[in-house]
Amino acid sequence: MPTCDIDAAISVMPKFSAIKPLTIVDELRELLEQNRKEIDSLVALEGELTWDNFVTQFEEIGDRVSRFWSPIRHLHGVADSEELRTAYTEAIAMLTEYNTELAQSDPLFAAFKQLRYNADFESLQPVQKRVIDNTLRDFRLGGIDLDQSKRKHFQDFNTELSQLTTKFSENILDATQAWAKNIKNDSQLVGLPERSLDLAKENAKQRNQSGYTLTLDYPCYDSVMTYCDNRNLRREMYEAYVTRASDRGPQANLFDNSRNIDRILVLRHKLARLLSFSSYAEYSLATKMAPSVASVIEFLEDLARRSAGAAKRDYGQLTAFAIDNLAIDSVEPWDIPYCTEKLRQHAFSFSAEELRPYFPTTRVIEGLFKTVRRLFGIVVEQLYEIDRWHPDVLVYSVRDEAGILRGVFYLDLYSREQKRGGAWMDECIVRRKHNDIVQHPVAYLTCNFTPPVNQNDSLLTHDEVLTLFHEFGHGLHHILTLVDYSSVSGINGVPWDGVELPSQFLENWVWERSALDEVSGHFKTGKPIPDELFERMCAAKNFQAGLHISRQLEFAIFDFRIHAGGSDSQSVQAILDQVREQVSVIEPTLYNRFQHSFSHIFAGGYAAGYYSYKWAEVLAADAFSRFVTEGVFNPNTGKSFRECFLEPGGSEDLMILFERFRGRGPQIDPLLYQAGLSAR
Ligand SMILES: [Zn+2]
Repeated sequence: MPTCDIDAAISVMPKFSAIKPLTIVDELRELLEQNRKEIDSLVALEGELTWDNFVTQFEEIGDRVSRFWSPIRHLHGVADSEELRTAYTEAIAMLTEYNTELAQSDPLFAAFKQLRYNADFESLQPVQKRVIDNTLRDFRLGGIDLDQSKRKHFQDFNTELSQLTTKFSENILDATQAWAKNIKNDSQLVGLPERSLDLAKENAKQRNQSGYTLTLDYPCYDSVMTYCDNRNLRREMYEAYVTRASDRGPQANLFDNSRNIDRILVLRHKLARLLSFSSYAEYSLATKMAPSVASVIEFLEDLARRSAGAAKRDYGQLTAFAIDNLAIDSVEPWDIPYCTEKLRQHAFSFSAEELRPYFPTTRVIEGLFKTVRRLFGIVVEQLYEIDRWHPDVLVYSVRDEAGILRGVFYLDLYSREQKRGGAWMDECIVRRKHNDIVQHPVAYLTCNFTPPVNQNDSLLTHDEVLTLFHEFGHGLHHILTLVDYSSVSGINGVPWDGVELPSQFLENWVWERSALDEVSGHFKTGKPIPDELFERMCAAKNFQAGLHISRQLEFAIFDFRIHAGGSDSQSVQAILDQVREQVSVIEPTLYNRFQHSFSHIFAGGYAAGYYSYKWAEVLAADAFSRFVTEGVFNPNTGKSFRECFLEPGGSEDLMILFERFRGRGPQIDPLLYQAGLSAR
């Protein structure tokens, strides 16, 4: 097996231990200055511009920034500190200014127009043409056609937006960390699983407290909400959690995102209007697969209609059960996960905790690698002694069946302080070819699983295994690409509403017995999940699916509506109330301010794009239905998936790729079937 390729790949990976917050700003300034100079001489080139003398150099310049910035952005997410945050805030302003400058550069725009309309264009490869066309589209979306005064506004809006969105997430992190509750007596914590108690004890110890300390970190919060019999405690934590970073709750006004939300929406609307879109939603769709604002609303409302009956049924079943069995006469929001879990145990005699012993992390990871080997023919191997940001982080290489190195990824599994919650995949290095040498892609896979206690292998829930597969799907999309130009390689250039296709697709294998046997085994005995437990688990799969979908649709419709209105439209809260009226079957508390920590849309890339999850679910379920027909481990079908989706990345139109894989356009029915909302 070749080893020099891996050495070359490792040699360009970031040196996290060498990143010094105090020098970031200066280093970035120097790098951006260097880039500006090179771009100036590039656009001043005499004679005909060509792919080789222009685009290649331009990609190189962009890649330099991306490789410098990616590890810093990553550290800000997983190893935050005061110093880093200060540097990050200053640096992000510089970067935004730089990016806006490029987006507004007349000479660059003129250069790409020349490339597009000169005689050579027709002789370029389709992927190269796409790079140029996408660049021109993005130039136009970046306001290049605006007159000078409007351009100045455009630039100011972008700078302010980027500061606001950073502040938005910082407020959530601060609000999450500022709340803790110490409990001396475990009689208050009846129902909590052993490992949650251990974790709470550990939390207390770290704070020099006795007893148990509960926090708003998701694993702790979720465990209390799902299992703790103490209703008052659930209510108290629920209130603290859903009012994070808002004007309500125990930390009212301390980290309030209200103004950030209002201002972000105003600025986004102005930005869209400057570019002659009627709303930010319309602007957002310019780079997406969905054809129009109306088509998205119609899609979401269609799903809402088709799932409304199921949601009402689910809620009715839940409340009836709570009255009869739990002596809860009126099911409140803080009772829902708890009652749901009790009902699940009652109806399916099944608890999510029952499965945890079968998912020791090490086994799960090995099984995941075996699964993708069978499906896509790729081999994952651990790499040692690679520089990383925390000792828990693991590093792996990915090779194809021919032994060719395809890429590398970091795996950061456990939640800890100074690490943002949730799970995600991010790019560290993007694949491209330069002087005939491949720059191998590198990904960060980040999760927030319960950390191991007392040196034992951490045990995962089935949901966490699902999350891991999901993020791994994104990772493969990034790593297996064969595209040589960074702007359309991997997930780059893939429309947002299609980018969840590989990730949601891969989740299906966590429901397949044969795949599940690869990723599970009792942590003490190694025994497989017993048949009857597996059957109960499958029976429980679509348990309360109607309620789940209605919640997702509430988020998606809310996101789309607040971005589809004008700046003088109703308040965010009023729109949320209306959406809930329309979609939700659970009456929320008046103080609920979930939008104040809805970072997907206020601090991430999902603004007017949250619908993408459902949109992509349709694609993923439909793609999987081909495996249902041809065999879930059918290597030919796997190869076809790899070739149609994972390797082309953003180099081709996603709808065309989909039709190539499926032999027809996407259909909604496999999703409805999968969610148990209709019969096959
Ligand atoms: Zn995802």
